Amino acid sequence: MAVAARVDGTIRDLAAQAPAEGTIEWVMTQDPDGLEIMRHSTAHVMAAAVKELFPEAKITIGPAIENGFYYDFDVEKPFTPEDLERIEEKMKEIVRSDQPFIREEMSKEEALARFPGEPYKEELLADIPETTVSLYRMGNFLDLCRGPHLPSSGRVGAYKLMKTAGAYWRGDSRNRMLTRIYGCAFAKKKELDEYLLLLEEVKKRDHRRLGKELDLFSVNEEIGPGLILWHPKGAIIRRIMEDFWREEHARAGYDLVFSPHIARIDLWRVSGHLDYYRQSMFSPIGVEGQDYQLKPMNCPFHIHIYKSRMRSYRDLPVRYAELGTVYRYEPSGTLHGLMRVRGFTQDDAHLFLRPDQLDEEIFSLLDFTLFVLRRFGFDQYEIYLSTRPGKYAGTPENWAKAEEALKRALDRKGLSYEVDPGEGVFYGPKIDIKIKDVLGRSWQCSTIQVDFNNPDRFEVTYIGEDGTEHPAIMIHRALMGSLERFFGVLVEHYAGAFPLWLAPVQVDILPVTDRHVDYAREMVSALHTAGYRAEGDFRNEKLGYKIRESQLKKVPFALVIGDREVTSRQVSPRRRGGEQLPPVSIEEFLGMLRGETEDSETKRREP
Ligand SMILES: [Zn+2]
Ligand SMILES: [Zn+2]
Repeated sequence: MAVAARVDGTIRDLAAQAPAEGTIEWVMTQDPDGLEIMRHSTAHVMAAAVKELFPEAKITIGPAIENGFYYDFDVEKPFTPEDLERIEEKMKEIVRSDQPFIREEMSKEEALARFPGEPYKEELLADIPETTVSLYRMGNFLDLCRGPHLPSSGRVGAYKLMKTAGAYWRGDSRNRMLTRIYGCAFAKKKELDEYLLLLEEVKKRDHRRLGKELDLFSVNEEIGPGLILWHPKGAIIRRIMEDFWREEHARAGYDLVFSPHIARIDLWRVSGHLDYYRQSMFSPIGVEGQDYQLKPMNCPFHIHIYKSRMRSYRDLPVRYAELGTVYRYEPSGTLHGLMRVRGFTQDDAHLFLRPDQLDEEIFSLLDFTLFVLRRFGFDQYEIYLSTRPGKYAGTPENWAKAEEALKRALDRKGLSYEVDPGEGVFYGPKIDIKIKDVLGRSWQCSTIQVDFNNPDRFEVTYIGEDGTEHPAIMIHRALMGSLERFFGVLVEHYAGAFPLWLAPVQVDILPVTDRHVDYAREMVSALHTAGYRAEGDFRNEKLGYKIRESQLKKVPFALVIGDREVTSRQVSPRRRGGEQLPPVSIEEFLGMLRGETEDSETKRREP
């Protein structure tokens, strides 16, 4: 359905006077522009409903946003969930009555007279530089608005009011706190339902909630916001991530290094962080009259390891990898579970190369990155190549060469990617890989960045075949990004039901009664001896209860031990999903576990 018209590129109301000449295109509800008009019109409908139910509410602004809209009101008491229900009911009436949206244009003075007792509209009017303004009337509700709008309230799609939140007038904390009502709106009921279902799923998978339920990690106000405590079960997963990471890096020709958490502030002066990055760094620490800085990055340390001796062209590439813990200042309001924190461990590496090694190195790096991501269950990506920005370090020739190398590697790997022109960091072009989780959400994790700045600032060189010094090319890269964030993504991706190789507890042993405990203990130690993580539930509880608990903890296998199992010296495995497998000997069960972990490993190894 058409909701507006694009006249020579400008979107107008359907009721607007058609021009004598020029092109007219219809804007349909399902077009992004049409959706925005519909969402914003729904905000007017909501404000109209609020004014009818709460005449003393002062109206402010109500734009369309992603998936919906909001409107801010100045009210004495914030709206309750019951109020939202009443508002939604009133909106239904307004939609049913199919009131036209009528545009009126007038002078600012005239407009002012139309908003008695609406101080926010007065303020907005005063700020408009034009002398003529437009108002939209829909039923009894009048709003100052540029438009365009739907022809009538009956054209509003499927909507739902979601929640209220406090919001300062004009986003300024010195101003009055307003009450914002958020709503979502879609062209079709089906789309709204799908969106609401997705929200439910997102809520169920929230890593903060699962982190508590599965006892994986916590953030404690007494310790400080944005600082993560890894509990034993979360720590097991982290250790597995780290072990895998270290092993694969050693195999891929990296040298693993360690570096301190603080360093003299001058180091960050040379690196340029003090100039470009200060707002993300914590305040310096005074030590014996010298200032030290908590590290926001690992790069300068690796550079100094490289520089600790003379490097010949034959030594390159040099690859240093470190699970390096860094600290960055983030305002407390932006912190979010494991996703945005103040202390985190990067799976960092720095490569030092000769120019002729760039192509091959980036190609194998890309290969390695995808291998690591696949191992954790991610095989859908969004890839971005960011090129030279307006202000940059290095020479245009080197930038072009590096951009070409990045492009060639992506093409050779057969990966589709988007070019973000001018979005590179000032020091070099980069490839960013966003992984897609099961809900289709993308998460920025891996990054491969060429750096022309640090080699210059720190004089990172090698002795070439000609016996003279040449600047080395440096690459920064992280595959998971940060262990904290990657773990958060893993929790949400798997909804806490980790694959066998990552599960903190892989097998629960559940004896039916006390007389089965001895044999159950024997099975626990058999699993431990074989290198699996098993726990026995020897409490005096009903079997059904124990099975439910094991399911809630999302343990991949439960072995039920009863009379039959003790007599036949077998175990009866039950999968996390509820599938009951036939009784087998413990050796057979171990073989099955081995098969499943190895299978997932080989599957991940092949592209
Ligand atoms: Zn409007
Ligand atoms: Zn770096």
